[in-house]
Amino acid sequence: MTQHFSFDLGVTDGGARTGLIRTPRGDIRTPAFMPVGTAATVKAMLPGSVRATGANVLLGNTYHLMLRPTAERIDRLGGLHRFMNWDRPILTDSGGFQVMSLGELRKVDSDGVTFKSHIDGSKHRLTPERSIEIQRLLGSDIVMCFDECPALPADRDRIATSMRLSMDWAERSRAAFGDRPGHALFGIQQGGLDLDLRAESAERLRAIGFDGYAIGGLAVGEGQAAMFDCLDVAPGQLPQDRPRYLMGVGKPDDIVGAVARGVDMMDCVLPSRSGRTGQAWTRRGQVNLRNARHADDPRPLDETCTCPACTGFSRAYLHHVVRAQEIIGSMLLTWHNLQYYQDLMAGMREAIGAGRFATWQKSFHATRAEGDIEPI
Ligand SMILES: [Zn+2]
Repeated sequence: MTQHFSFDLGVTDGGARTGLIRTPRGDIRTPAFMPVGTAATVKAMLPGSVRATGANVLLGNTYHLMLRPTAERIDRLGGLHRFMNWDRPILTDSGGFQVMSLGELRKVDSDGVTFKSHIDGSKHRLTPERSIEIQRLLGSDIVMCFDECPALPADRDRIATSMRLSMDWAERSRAAFGDRPGHALFGIQQGGLDLDLRAESAERLRAIGFDGYAIGGLAVGEGQAAMFDCLDVAPGQLPQDRPRYLMGVGKPDDIVGAVARGVDMMDCVLPSRSGRTGQAWTRRGQVNLRNARHADDPRPLDETCTCPACTGFSRAYLHHVVRAQEIIGSMLLTWHNLQYYQDLMAGMREAIGAGRFATWQKSFHATRAEGDIEPI
């Protein structure tokens, strides 16, 4: 097994591309979807179950873990992989985005961010150096630069100032990270929907040099059309020979559109969060298992899906456990949703590899347009 982090670009089909990220903890085939393990767990899933869906990398959250149980405690207990019993790669975010969402509870200065914990109101501080240190204590394989994201809506000056501050912090993150063979540091492009600011940000990041490049500041309420317009350009501003990671995206059709535009990695809480509220994602779109139409339906959620929810249980059963708020309802629907997302990625990788991604996309949209199976 390799001792280094590397990325091999595979096949390109239109804007879409396949690739292989190698790390000492295992390979990541791209395009890749990363389930989110916020508090050292993908909620309602055992690590082996997450692995069984085909996921080969997880995302962990610096903000949540630094507050509880703390990075120092996780380090003393052998690092995040051992702590949560996941031996494959882990990408950690920098805490920047989640601190932003605290709104009134945070204060930004040129050196870093001071904020109050959402748990107990205690005061904390993150700087580029501290964020990188926390991610090192966690043992993260792919570390993200600490960045600042303006709350939207924001005018161009505010977005430009914020982007330039984030680029200064990217330099400090790079210096704090140092030389760690087998671990990667990703820079994060900012600039909102402004393509000139995005170009300036990409130039700054390329000059510093990173193992991979994220596209930040999208999927924050701008809508799919505006996001896709930006993604028509933004990935091409980043190096061709490094992985490109679109942060916090998204719904299945967002993911397909992003892959078509040259994105290699994505993460989102949606499949796991939806699974805990009775929502399922399928080839035919979104299905609400709370709906009474499923109460007498003996058919599986999706007859083509290999997950335990679809192979062992009826829609009627899933409806019942969701309505009765039984824990197994969250477990089964989370598993199904993560399986659907991983199958979606595998399908895209196969289609891109075979040079038929355009045809695959048409079929993806056509099946969704049919909607859910008719009620019995
Ligand atoms: Zn399923």
